[in-house]
Amino acid sequence: MPAEPAFVIVGASLAGAKAAETLREEGFDGAVVLIGTEDEHPYERPPLSKGYLLGKDARESIFPLPGGWYAEHQVDLRRGQTVTSINRSGHRVILEDGRIVPYDRLLITTGASPRRLSIPGADLDGVRYLRTVGDSERLAAALRGGGRVVIAGAGWIGLETAAAAREYGCEVTVVEPESGALQRALGPELGEVFADLHRSHGVTFRFGEGLGEVTGSGGAVTGAVTSTGAELPADTVIIAVGVLPNVGLAADARLDVDNGIVVNEALRTSDPDIFAAGDVANAFNTLLGRRIRVEHWANALTGGPLAARSMLGQDVTYDWVPYFFSDQYDLGMETAGLPDPGTYDKIVYRGDKDSLEFIAFWLSGRVVVAGMNVNVWDVNENIQALIRSGQAVDPDRLADPDIPLTGL
Ligand SMILES: Cc1cc2nc3c(=O)[nH]c(=O)nc-3n(C[C@H](O)[C@H](O)[C@H](O)COP(=O)(O)OP(=O)(O)OC[C@H]3O[C@@H](n4cnc5c(N)ncnc54)[C@H](O)[C@@H]3O)c2cc1C
Repeated sequence: MPAEPAFVIVGASLAGAKAAETLREEGFDGAVVLIGTEDEHPYERPPLSKGYLLGKDARESIFPLPGGWYAEHQVDLRRGQTVTSINRSGHRVILEDGRIVPYDRLLITTGASPRRLSIPGADLDGVRYLRTVGDSERLAAALRGGGRVVIAGAGWIGLETAAAAREYGCEVTVVEPESGALQRALGPELGEVFADLHRSHGVTFRFGEGLGEVTGSGGAVTGAVTSTGAELPADTVIIAVGVLPNVGLAADARLDVDNGIVVNEALRTSDPDIFAAGDVANAFNTLLGRRIRVEHWANALTGGPLAARSMLGQDVTYDWVPYFFSDQYDLGMETAGLPDPGTYDKIVYRGDKDSLEFIAFWLSGRVVVAGMNVNVWDVNENIQALIRSGQAVDPDRLADPDIPLTGL
């Protein structure tokens, strides 16, 4: 690399901004160019379905770095600009308007986009997806008026928006083709805890039914029709059926892509000068011994910095325990590890799950593979340590709240 190399980051969100910050913290004084499609400064998305959606969090609170930080640290933040291609042999990226930005090393943090449903009526006013701050503001405006809301998808975004809609006083129906809530994320037993929480707040679920059609009049939503033909009146339809990683650039540049951009434990792609982090990266996690692509805030927060250090040639390893959190009504939860189907054979509870104050542990044999603390705080690091250790534990002791997690 030349004496003053140029590092370019495509995707100006959490992972990208934290990578830029790390480059400067590590003393890198070459050019840093951070390019993002959105007109906003990089921001965090979790508040968009929680406090910001509810009007409780101020707009300033969503930014991981103050707006002035970028210029102060000579980071060339290019907002409202989209990279349309990567020229690997020429070491440059090409922007939508034809401009060319050369790089010595490139980081791709292009994140993910909501999966769209191509069903009749999907383009009516009143059909909403939630990914950007603008989406959140438009959804808040719609929910503020009350009315009837149909949500497609009982995953995290579907449930968090259901909670917000109820707090706004809307009537809420969630339509989900699976047989329960959060099936993929938590499995049937724990998914039911969340479904019950929502039922107790007046949400109606229609499991085993997908969204088949959105009906409207004069361009506005009037209802939704499920896959079984049930007609549900609605003023707002929220489509929350998962996201797809934004891999187009990488695929066109013939980088390895497989459910995200494939990267090794140093977050390096199949091209040694190109790295990827955050939602878009399918990264080899050395602790789990497999590649994972997670859509977790914490993974962007720590993955961006890890990639930055890797770009600087430091010896880094993607080896942390996955971490996710959610807030719905007055329930707060944190999950450590990935309770993927087939990776556990037993769930052990510490505390009463019906009281909504408990810890659930997913075990494979006597080894904890994942844990979730619900309305119990200051324990997630201990759960992570248990997972990291891989130690065999006695399930009875695990369930006993009088035995500290550090003393099993
Ligand atoms: C509403 C909502 C609530 C969430 N709540 C939680 C939560 O409670 N807990 C949790 O752990 N996680 C949560 N998440 C997930 C978390 O926000 C994501 O994991 C995180 O935002 C990923 O960050 P990222 O930087 O990888 O990508 P993103 O945030 O997706 O950002 C990628 C950026 O790249 C830009 N981009 C894409 N392509 C290009 C291109 N070609 N050129 C230039 N720019 C481009 C995009 O416009 C975008 O701004 C939530 C997500 C959403 C949407």
